[in-house]
Amino acid sequence: MAETAPADLPPSLWASSAPPPPATGPLLGDCRADVAVIGGGFTGLSAALHLAEGGAETVLVEAAQIGFGASGRNNGQVIPNLSRLDPDDIVAGVRPEHGGRDKGEQLVALIRDSASLVFDLIRRHGIAAEAVQKGWFQPAHRPSRMKLVEKRVRQWGQRGAPVRLLDQEEVARLSGSAFWQGGWENPTGGRINPMGFARGLAGAAIAAGARVHTGSPATAIAREEGGWRVTTPRGRVLAQRLVIATHAYTPPGLWPGLERSLVPVRSYQMATTPLSDNIRKTILPEGHALSDTQGDLHFFRFDASGRLITGGGLILPFGWDGRIRARIGARLRRVFPQVGEFGFTHAWWGYIAATDDKAPHLYELAPGVLAWTGCNGRGVALATALGREMARASLGRPLSEIAAPVEPLRRIAGHAFAPLGVAWNQALFRWKDRRD
Ligand SMILES: Cc1cc2nc3c(=O)[nH]c(=O)nc-3n(C[C@H](O)[C@H](O)[C@H](O)COP(=O)(O)OP(=O)(O)OC[C@H]3O[C@@H](n4cnc5c(N)ncnc54)[C@H](O)[C@@H]3O)c2cc1C
Repeated sequence: MAETAPADLPPSLWASSAPPPPATGPLLGDCRADVAVIGGGFTGLSAALHLAEGGAETVLVEAAQIGFGASGRNNGQVIPNLSRLDPDDIVAGVRPEHGGRDKGEQLVALIRDSASLVFDLIRRHGIAAEAVQKGWFQPAHRPSRMKLVEKRVRQWGQRGAPVRLLDQEEVARLSGSAFWQGGWENPTGGRINPMGFARGLAGAAIAAGARVHTGSPATAIAREEGGWRVTTPRGRVLAQRLVIATHAYTPPGLWPGLERSLVPVRSYQMATTPLSDNIRKTILPEGHALSDTQGDLHFFRFDASGRLITGGGLILPFGWDGRIRARIGARLRRVFPQVGEFGFTHAWWGYIAATDDKAPHLYELAPGVLAWTGCNGRGVALATALGREMARASLGRPLSEIAAPVEPLRRIAGHAFAPLGVAWNQALFRWKDRRD
């Protein structure tokens, strides 16, 4: 089979500022494992780390490089909630045959604790990921959105999350902007250098005994006597169990229909030149990460060198670089008029896995084969937590005892028309943001 070099990383800030990855190379020849993991993002790496720590022989294959997918490209906001569903919605959404309300409450608890899991792993494994756990908050862009904010505080508070309501004055103080109306905060959230976290997880997984292979796209998965055979261009692994962690980057044909369980949506990210100390002190002065209530989300955070990292969506992706710089530059000046002169040094994009019901779904694709899709834009903490849950199941814990409902594969109806739906939704969000 003709060999292609692993794809280069996109020109993100994180690819240039994270410490180098551990030394890895392609899978060569045939081998056996207890569990094979496909995909080297937070899901696959967290699964591999927890599997190896649990004593399983683990082989992870990544098509390109560690953090090549969404995990190395995101905004690095560590957020212990879902973007569109609140706890009551999450609980109500779990069908009785998948565990019903009890399972829904377990999933809510998993999400509640997911940011702390990320920061605990970073501390425990000494990962250099610019981790700052000084809280995440969500300001409301219109007075009418305060109802939503109050609901979130009530529902997460009832589930034991240490959340609090913020009035307009407090939001202005924490953000450094008069743009918003009020909001809510979860102090267990925060920000990381996501590529640093991915590379550090890979190092920790290897140290725990996992074998991590990059430049090794799984090209076929087949059931054989003794387990599941995963084929890559230069090597094969036969494993009793399988975790498929390819998420929004799932290629067609890897597993029948898996890529149709999600709609990949482009999200654009950009990083400013380092801002001066004087200006830096006036924006997000306490170190928070912020994402607001708009459908066309406004989100901001600093990195360790004082660059503001933000971004957004485009309805149509043509000429994206120039258009996104102009659009987000104007937004940044509107929200933080004090920002002064700045330029964007990095602009990149990645795919978010959206689902039609806005919920994440964990699948048993076949006996011993697990996958999840549907971060809907909140996957840094969730992928890490679900990777651990899939590791627990692959180590032998009954599926009924892991902290997430497990379902058969669910394909999105009318998937072929999804790109049109995405563009329509984005236009709708912008219209609604201006009205509600
Ligand atoms: C631009 C952007 C901004 C975001 N911002 C945030 C944020 O601030 N906060 C937040 O909580 N979430 C955010 N997210 C979501 C979050 O990044 C993702 O949910 C999370 O990283 C998903 O991790 P994952 O490991 O499941 O998937 P990925 O990181 O996408 O990993 C999948 C991996 O599978 C590999 N792969 C694909 N096919 C194969 C194959 N055949 N064989 C082997 N490997 C294969 C890919 O190369 C890739 O590395 C953002 C996402 C994007 C794209």
